[in-house]
Amino acid sequence: MSLVPFFDTDLAKLRGMTPAKLTLLQTELGMFTYGDLIQYFPFRYEDRTVVHPIASISDEMDHAQFVGRIRFKEKIGAGHRQRIVAQVCDATGCIEIVWFQGVKWLEKSLNTGVDYLFYGKPTSFNGTIQMTHPEMEVYKGEQASGKYFQPVYPLTEKLRKKYIDSKAIATLQKNLLEIAFPYIRETLPGDVTAQFKLISKQEALYHIHLPQSETWLHQARRRLKFEELFYNQLRLIKQNLIRKVAFPGQVFSSAALLTTFYQEHMPFELTNAQKQVIREIFADMRSGKQMNRLLQGDVGSGKTIVAFISMLLAIDNGAQACLMAPTEILADQHYQGLKQFADLLGITIAKLTGSVKKKDRVGLHEDLQSGKLQILVGTHALFEDSVQFKNLGMCIIDEQHRFGVAQRAKLWDKNKTFHPHILVMTATPIPRTLAMTLYGDLDISIINELPVGRKPIQTTHRYDTHRLQVFAFIQSELSKGRQIYIVYPLIEESEKMDFKDLMDGYESISRAFPEVPLGILHGKMKPADKDIEMARFVKNETKIMVATTVIEVGVNVPNASIMVIESAERFGLSQLHQLRGRVGRGAEQSYCILMTGFKISADTKKRIETMVKTNNGFEIAEVDLQLRGPGDISGTRQSGAIDLMIADLAKDGEILKVARETAQKILEEDPNLEKSEYAMIREQVRTQRKDTTNWARIS
Ligand code: ADP
Ligand code: MG
Repeated sequence: MSLVPFFDTDLAKLRGMTPAKLTLLQTELGMFTYGDLIQYFPFRYEDRTVVHPIASISDEMDHAQFVGRIRFKEKIGAGHRQRIVAQVCDATGCIEIVWFQGVKWLEKSLNTGVDYLFYGKPTSFNGTIQMTHPEMEVYKGEQASGKYFQPVYPLTEKLRKKYIDSKAIATLQKNLLEIAFPYIRETLPGDVTAQFKLISKQEALYHIHLPQSETWLHQARRRLKFEELFYNQLRLIKQNLIRKVAFPGQVFSSAALLTTFYQEHMPFELTNAQKQVIREIFADMRSGKQMNRLLQGDVGSGKTIVAFISMLLAIDNGAQACLMAPTEILADQHYQGLKQFADLLGITIAKLTGSVKKKDRVGLHEDLQSGKLQILVGTHALFEDSVQFKNLGMCIIDEQHRFGVAQRAKLWDKNKTFHPHILVMTATPIPRTLAMTLYGDLDISIINELPVGRKPIQTTHRYDTHRLQVFAFIQSELSKGRQIYIVYPLIEESEKMDFKDLMDGYESISRAFPEVPLGILHGKMKPADKDIEMARFVKNETKIMVATTVIEVGVNVPNASIMVIESAERFGLSQLHQLRGRVGRGAEQSYCILMTGFKISADTKKRIETMVKTNNGFEIAEVDLQLRGPGDISGTRQSGAIDLMIADLAKDGEILKVARETAQKILEEDPNLEKSEYAMIREQVRTQRKDTTNWARIS
């Protein structure tokens, strides 16, 4: 008997494995054990269940499979146009097959006396239905060929060159499944599989690799997706629960300053959504547990005032608060905004960013440690070890997607006795499914309402050729006293060219509006110069701001009424929405104009249509997820939180919801998974953790 658990067995032992194959699987796919192989899932399947009569094949079909005999074949053309054309027929009709490669070999080996099974994409050429380079094999009768779903595995170019294709992987899976079947353990409690009519783990692993029918395939995928999402959610919810037990939080109960602020200085009536969120935050801060909460709200929904009010509660109780922003500009704007309120209440506030001089920091550090300084606003500089608080009670992170999870944890340590309460605010709403997986360990609050009286921004799409009309429109808004943003893309790979675009744009705008003071803002400028430019625009000294996406986050100039986005096709949907959110902050009607060339892709068209149609950030986030998939949504890849093998957050929202509810219910009932019926869950969580460490060692 072997001491190695079955799924840790070295792949070298598998029937059909050769040393050459093994090396490739190891280096190309990081595959070492039986367990690695069996968990290597196909990403799609080719439907080989139907054999089409040739007469029924049309170029509108994605793929067709048919059985036919070669009626005749000929070699035509010369040089690289040389090809073999064959006519293949069954009882219903004929189709033309063309090969450009392997001509010599095919000429010799194509046999006119046998039936072949073909599979490929039908096309139409001069009215004739054709197929180029189809997959083909000698037809061995209905039992041996056809009638199955062929798994397609994600493979590398190198593997394919060495003839390790999907078929080869499927054969290995088959060899493995023959011996592995009895070793496959169930990983979901019987209650759960029964309630959601999930097939067993054994069946699922079998049919994911060797589906015997479309129904089995569907059930296998559903079962494995559920399992994956269930354990993903279970882990996150458990983390949250453990934290709530392990980390007490300061109880903030008195609210004197807060009352003064509400009664004497509140600049506006809070929206119902803001009030609700503040209630949720206050409940956390009085619960005796450390708060870890995510605040989602669309641009302009008024997250800043919520942040300030939360800080006040901490300060009211003798603690300090900090707010961290991703950029200097934004940190500065928060500082300016919060300072106005703080001054009214006699609260001390300071700013700390990378550009604050060392000698100016000394006093600041002292004031933090003595508790004299109550609010600190800043950038990443707040993370530095030298930044020590007397009693940090509340920490707010704005525009979360630029901060990692590990960094969040670092902030906790800024208060050794009690971890500070943490409020993470996202600038861009993220889809529900992403929020559940990325921030599944946080409690979530949502502001789903804009302040009253805000007029929805009107968005239009204009081609570059209509620039003069756009300029005329800008002129008319300028004459009403409004300010304008004109934004250019600046993407790293083509930075030089983009920079030229920006400068050319600036030139042409200054020619079109010779009397109008312009500002310019881009990433290559020194922070001090950026600040000066931004400040001039905020003070209405400059009327048009020509900029790159550095103005993307958070900047607030209520008098700006037009956002022109140049080369809009080069921006992602959430970025477009983010930029648009820079206008529409005052009482006046605002506009967003998306400029593009004439030729745009289908995806771009969808992005632009979505922008024109809706101002709702949550809706936009959903479309963005559908278009780009979860991996590309900003910030998710780096975070490493989404390493799902089979579930797709863009498509499996329903399964995720049910899996999360199930995990939640189980943990509520039995937080430590001590009940015997949950032993398998506990075991699975334990082995998964072990797997992670193994991976770290190998890679
Ligand atoms: P964001 O959620 O994008 O950070 P801000 O907090 O910057 O939004 O708020 C956008 C603007 O709306 C600010 O000028 C702010 O003063 C204003 N605002 C916030 N809440 C309200 C409200 N309840 N009523 C009126 N104006 C509000
Ligand atoms: Mg903001």
